[in-house]
Amino acid sequence: MPLSLPRKDLFHLPEGVIYLDGNSLGPLPNTAIARAESVMRDEWGNELIRAWNSADWMAMPEKVGNQIAPLIGAPHGSVVTGDTLSIKVFQSLTIAVGLRPERRVILSDTTNFPSDLYMADGLIRLLGKGYELRTVPPEDIPGAITEEVAAVLLTHVNYRTGAMFDMARVTAKAHAAGAVMIWDLAHSTGAVPVDLAGCTADLAVGCTYKFLNGGPGSPGFIYARPDLIETIQPALAGWLGHAAPFAMEPTYHPAASIERLRIGTPAIIQLAILEEALKIWADIDMQELRASSVRLSELFLKEVAARCPQLNLASPADPALRGSQVCFAFEHGYEVMQALIAEGVIGDYRTPDIMRFGITPLYLADDDILQAVDILSEIMGTERWREPQFAVRARVT
Ligand SMILES: *Cc1c(COP(=O)(O)O)cnc(C)c1O
Repeated sequence: MPLSLPRKDLFHLPEGVIYLDGNSLGPLPNTAIARAESVMRDEWGNELIRAWNSADWMAMPEKVGNQIAPLIGAPHGSVVTGDTLSIKVFQSLTIAVGLRPERRVILSDTTNFPSDLYMADGLIRLLGKGYELRTVPPEDIPGAITEEVAAVLLTHVNYRTGAMFDMARVTAKAHAAGAVMIWDLAHSTGAVPVDLAGCTADLAVGCTYKFLNGGPGSPGFIYARPDLIETIQPALAGWLGHAAPFAMEPTYHPAASIERLRIGTPAIIQLAILEEALKIWADIDMQELRASSVRLSELFLKEVAARCPQLNLASPADPALRGSQVCFAFEHGYEVMQALIAEGVIGDYRTPDIMRFGITPLYLADDDILQAVDILSEIMGTERWREPQFAVRARVT
């Protein structure tokens, strides 16, 4: 039986807060508290080094990867967790260029998340030899996938606008040109249904602290299509990706499984919290979650259009082209967001003028949306956002 949504009782949500930023940092799952305490006291505290075996810490990166797999349409044994998403982007690019040694272009879109572009640029500078990072506007991507392209690196759902690529169509286009397709699922995993196996994507990466609620700094993940795994020669060849780490061999021999994409010692406390957070998803029907997300988003858009005419929709109006966030452009978006946060309506801001609201049906209901728009329209109508304290820029926006 799928859980009926929302399930606010599963999360620690402070009184008086309407949380519309689960696309940036998901809330704390209630059971994670006891789990973190237990992994610290019972495992680390009492078992010490023995816990790598007695609590099977060594298996956790793949075990937790297998919990993520069904959410992204990936088969068992094709996902492993570790490191940060930025590192996973770099790792996936090293794999892709290794699979197409005769090609020199990494293709991405100009609106991609900066870290993805920086990582590609850093790799290109390291490789030299005529490698090139080519970026084009998202709408020009299909036409830019030529036979020069080694890898296409795209974020499925855009972080700033929520605009969503057609994963099956772009992947087919990449494959027709002989390119390796890498999807960044940062804003897709736990937000929209994803079918990696169905679209035969080569590689995918993502993070777990956004819609998966794994907590700040929870590990990233990487997916490799099963038939590719044994052909991958890891450039980030860490000892825990070795076939026999404790053989302590001077030469690297990759593990036969997806574990070859492990690098170093996993963050066990964070992985234990993530494992707990992922248990919630075992009972979630992604199609039902998507239907709720669309319904809540449409309600939000309709109310804002009627009551806040100053705000311009920055997300696609068609829900089929949108992930699970809605965004509005307003010149003083930063100030408006600070005024909202002061009232307990928490979203975030992305430069130069975007107010972002994450729509997370796990813990949001219609009345949260209506209440949030009540407060937003009051702030817009009274122009209370002009109070000077709301213009003070914080380090994180
Ligand atoms: C959130 C996000 C990141 C962040 O990467 P970290 O290494 O986890 O800080 C990278 N890429 C995209 C597309 C993101 O949305």
